Amino acid sequence: MPICDACGEPCDTISVDFGIGAYEFGSERGVHHDYGDASDCCEADVVEGGRRMIRSAVHVARKDHKPHMGRAFIKKGDKYEVFVYFHWRSGGGSWFTQKKAVLERAPIPLETALAPH
Ligand SMILES: [Zn+2]
Repeated sequence: MPICDACGEPCDTISVDFGIGAYEFGSERGVHHDYGDASDCCEADVVEGGRRMIRSAVHVARKDHKPHMGRAFIKKGDKYEVFVYFHWRSGGGSWFTQKKAVLERAPIPLETALAPH
């Protein structure tokens, strides 16, 4: 299965222009193209490997989680699921990633819901 070397997710291969684009060198002008294969998610190398979910568990947050780059912000009392993925490259090397998904938001405290906006 082709995976992205940057994020480890299964990906499609796209053609990306790594060229420098328009250039001028002395009296010469041109456009430099250098097409290569890259992953469709990160435009990184595509390597052979795989990804498998190895564990998932449901938790209720005991405190607010720190927001993390584009991921769901989990607040105290939210019910969420944690997924652990195992990624590997066929040539060697493996690593884990973790994903969280909110299943149920904690009810809004009454005093907050009734407060004038
Ligand atoms: Zn990627």
